[in-house]
Amino acid sequence: MPLFCDVALAVPLDMAFTYAIPPGMEPVVGGRVLVPFRQQRMSGIVVELHDREPKVKTKKVIEALDLSPVLDDQLLKLGQWIADYYLAPVGEVFRTMLPLSAEFKRAITYRITEQGQMALHLAGVSGSPPRSQRTPDQQLLEFRVLDYLAEREGVAVNEASLRGATRVSKALLSGMTRKKWIVREDVSAVRDAARTVKVAVLRAAEENPATDEGETPSGQAVRPRHAKLNENQANLIEALAAAGGRVQVEALRGLEVPRTTLGTLVRRGLIEIVEEPQGFTVSKFKPRPSPFEFEFSAAQKEGLTKILEGVGSRKFTGMLLHGVTGSGKTAVYLAAMREVLEQGRSSILLVPEIGLTPAMAADLIQVFGDEVAILHSGLSNDERAEQWHRIKRGEARVVVGTRSAVFAPVSDLALLIVDEEQDSSYKQEETPRYHARDVAVMRAKMAGAVAVLGSATPSLESYYNAKKHRYALLELPDRVEQRPLPEVEILDMRQEFQETGKEQVISRKLAEEIRERLEKKEQVMVLLNRRGYSPVALCRACGQALQCRNCAVSMTHHKREHKMECHYCGFVAQVPKKCAECGSEYVYFVGTGSEKLEELLHGMFPQARIGRLDRDTVRGREDFERALNALNEGELDMLVGTQMIAKGHDVHGVTLVGVVGADTALGLPDFRAAERTFQLLTQVAGRAGRGNSPGKVVLQTYFPDHYAVQFAARHDFAGFYDKELQFRSWMHYPPYSAIANVIVRSEKLEEALAWSGELGLWFEKTRHEGIRVLGPAAAPITRLKRDYRYHFILKSPSREKMNALLRSMLAEAAARKIPRTQIIVDVDAVWLM
Ligand SMILES: [Zn+2]
Ligand SMILES: [Zn+2]
Repeated sequence: MPLFCDVALAVPLDMAFTYAIPPGMEPVVGGRVLVPFRQQRMSGIVVELHDREPKVKTKKVIEALDLSPVLDDQLLKLGQWIADYYLAPVGEVFRTMLPLSAEFKRAITYRITEQGQMALHLAGVSGSPPRSQRTPDQQLLEFRVLDYLAEREGVAVNEASLRGATRVSKALLSGMTRKKWIVREDVSAVRDAARTVKVAVLRAAEENPATDEGETPSGQAVRPRHAKLNENQANLIEALAAAGGRVQVEALRGLEVPRTTLGTLVRRGLIEIVEEPQGFTVSKFKPRPSPFEFEFSAAQKEGLTKILEGVGSRKFTGMLLHGVTGSGKTAVYLAAMREVLEQGRSSILLVPEIGLTPAMAADLIQVFGDEVAILHSGLSNDERAEQWHRIKRGEARVVVGTRSAVFAPVSDLALLIVDEEQDSSYKQEETPRYHARDVAVMRAKMAGAVAVLGSATPSLESYYNAKKHRYALLELPDRVEQRPLPEVEILDMRQEFQETGKEQVISRKLAEEIRERLEKKEQVMVLLNRRGYSPVALCRACGQALQCRNCAVSMTHHKREHKMECHYCGFVAQVPKKCAECGSEYVYFVGTGSEKLEELLHGMFPQARIGRLDRDTVRGREDFERALNALNEGELDMLVGTQMIAKGHDVHGVTLVGVVGADTALGLPDFRAAERTFQLLTQVAGRAGRGNSPGKVVLQTYFPDHYAVQFAARHDFAGFYDKELQFRSWMHYPPYSAIANVIVRSEKLEEALAWSGELGLWFEKTRHEGIRVLGPAAAPITRLKRDYRYHFILKSPSREKMNALLRSMLAEAAARKIPRTQIIVDVDAVWLM
């Protein structure tokens, strides 16, 4: 066995740490080890085993946690690639890749020492605690702790229970530790790797007294046959029988019988304890027609054939599946995944938010049954770990999930699909700031697999790659069954203002169209991509807007919940009655969010049944399903909401989509604003007329001439793409340049200013060929979650050069003692705010 191992730990340092391997211990590369780090124990991933003696003295590995790698060679390599590409500490990358944190339990315990016993004893003898400089209150607390620990005879007591029982601070315990009255121990350890539950099972039925027919559960039948059963034992057996003979041990704790009773019954062979994998529940979906009932169109068949050819070649192939909304992309994915499964190989399907696409989950379970693992944001840590183990053991070879499912530990990966590849939720907005789509392509490359990126509105980057023949382009140009795309009418809200003399939320035209549909008993959707009631609370006297305490952002009024909320940090405040600046009572609320839109529509159409979908009404998957089901069952006439209503789900009765203020993004200083607006408009338009009736979209806008609006109205992706590409090329933005956003942040304004100033001078001095550095400048959101923010934007046609410069910038920052956590490096940034 080698003498040393290098371990990647989840700390913000770009390095691995060397530890000595004690004799007899056998850590593996890609497996976890428990090691001491500073004052703690941490688990990390072994990246290398070697015999090179380090110059400094090393600490020893405490425990090797895995007998075999949890990250195989390919995933280790992928993690290294992410660390390099996104300039992220490799340990933090590995932590993101492994959903096993639930298995590692931190625990601190305390025991009383002899000195502590002595102090307590002396206090008892003299009748008062020994004299010290401490205040009487503190002494009292210290003796409460000593008393508590002494009663437990030197047993190690968990920190939480100790503090719970004695109500003392951590600081007090540290003080006592320093005085050596108590010993603090870090006993962090790994729990049982496979998440299992203990289940009590009654032995065979003939031996089971409580199943005798006609008996009341009073135990009458029990005693004659098992004379030696006492009352507690009989009660337990009855409870077990009543529950069908199988009950989780945890649930039996609810019975009023001593814990030892179960043990006795197990020893007597009446009950058996078995370990079972923890149950995984998906909500019950209504049965739907099989996605394969439709005849595939020629384009669908061709797409499927190309994908399967790629799979068969066992070589990396990148493909962009560009299909208009409603063209049947999902059916192609499922058919390809089914074929891969039949070949005994694995596939991964990434979706933006599985929790919000119950229809897709239902299809998956119907097609793949037990072979599918579904990973979504609603899972607890334990459930996530259990799914991970199922995949690792090869029980689930079809994986569907959000962003981090790209790291699923499947073997023999043949197909990796990224649905709605343009969706910004694939970008992680915390360290490591990876983009799951790009990681998916890299993983497919390493595995010799096929990567399929699917979208109705591909990102500029992906479409550009397809045009440059880096990806094969598969097109699904028609909706299934030749259903027509909806007619889109652009409504100029500037003109509406001139004609009515008022700022309107719902134009006269849209109101009229809605009325018409409601009369015909057809359904309507209205999109307003901003939640809450009013986005701004303004003082009429001094002009001040109510800002968040932590962010340079105005707070949104939520009328029903009677609060002001910051949509960036979640800070909540009371609805102001007076201006905080000048005391004026004339505070008024400006602008419209989805809550107010719903209220307005109620006022205009009192008979209509209106539902709302946004993050305030949808707390989980069930709320979302309920609203969509209500719409599908005809229990709602109208659905209003944010972009949530634009996501890909079939709603059959909707013939009109109204778009209210979906173009506000066009006013933001973000180069992706046009692309995002085009995508949102195209998606929401796709909700109209998916059933048998042709649909219509009324698009209200203050930017009627903007090309994003114009091309979306004409369903002209190619036109938008050409125009937008021109702009990107002039401005040196992706896909022509790689970009990175570097944010320097601090709670202290002077620090943020000083650090960004220093780095600005350094960038100027180093002057790198072929790299543009813009900044430092105040970030568009100058203060966020208490931090003041300054930023640089780097652009370069050469990603290698850009990353090299970023690396030396980080080294420079470290030399200047700027903490690593105060500098965010966001490579391929999606938001520049
Ligand atoms: Zn005021
Ligand atoms: Zn805030």
